[in-house]
Amino acid sequence: MFDSLSDRLSGIFDKLTRRGALTDSDVSEAMREVRRALIEADVALDVVKSFTDRVKEKAVGQEVVRSVTPGQMVVKIVHDELVRTLGAEAEPIDLQSVPPVPIMMVGLQGSGKTTTTAKIAKRLTERDKRKVLMASLDTRRPAAQEQLEVLGKQTGVDTLPIIKGQTPQQIATRAIQAAKLGGYDVVILDTAGRLHIDDELMRETEQVRDIAQPHETLLVADSLTGQDAVNLARTFDQRIGITGIVLTRIDGDGRGGAALSMRAVTGKPIKLLGTGEKLDGLEDFHPERVAGRILG
Ligand code: GDP
Repeated sequence: MFDSLSDRLSGIFDKLTRRGALTDSDVSEAMREVRRALIEADVALDVVKSFTDRVKEKAVGQEVVRSVTPGQMVVKIVHDELVRTLGAEAEPIDLQSVPPVPIMMVGLQGSGKTTTTAKIAKRLTERDKRKVLMASLDTRRPAAQEQLEVLGKQTGVDTLPIIKGQTPQQIATRAIQAAKLGGYDVVILDTAGRLHIDDELMRETEQVRDIAQPHETLLVADSLTGQDAVNLARTFDQRIGITGIVLTRIDGDGRGGAALSMRAVTGKPIKLLGTGEKLDGLEDFHPERVAGRILG
């Protein structure tokens, strides 16, 4: 997803590193180009501004210009600032709580919420050897509960038996109860999707949150929607309170802006990346690795 940004940046830095000596104005010119490249990649404007300001502050000045390889020093400064913008440390899903640990999945319809629920459940079961229960609280979209049931069968993860006519709040209560009685380590609640932020559904999600008291509340956001994904994360955080973000469709041709802006704008970490439709298409988000990918 970072291909075009990555190409742009390597063009800028190739030019810089090929020159031996650099002046402050060479560095400033390169930063103007970096700024343009980030804006075109759909990175939030205030994030672009503080990013380039911090790089300039470190890069313009005697130390870089006088060094033997000034271009490489600038690249190193940009790399370090990218890592910092992306969140510095990887933050995996936190399961340090009394089992069954409730995880609540929230987000817009079509963002990949149900698929991501199954991906996380599969990974916790297979890799981390946890006993996981999944429950769909989506009583609005026809067949949403059955969709999760099918994914449960495919992955060998238990799903809460469907009882037609129950409200999301009742399903949440039943899921927590069943997870306790069944000796599950983790219970994942896949809440109803929405086409856009809608007050009634937000209230419903708040009530589910109050019932389930999730240890993790993960917003699933489509990386292809760029700035909209970032605004969505901010709104969900203000209203529901999120603990992390899963960015899906990283395998698509998004420009990378969402990934780069998310942390700085919301203060919440990207924890996982969705990398495909298949149920093993899930990766941990490592700021260092992503910065490496962006810088090529
Ligand atoms: P929900 O409405 O948010 O629950 O969305 P779904 O989980 O039903 O996913 C909607 C579509 O997106 C499905 O066709 C999924 O296979 C697809 N999808 C989900 N995550 C990814 C991803 O990371 N990459 C790609 N390419 N497709 C995805």
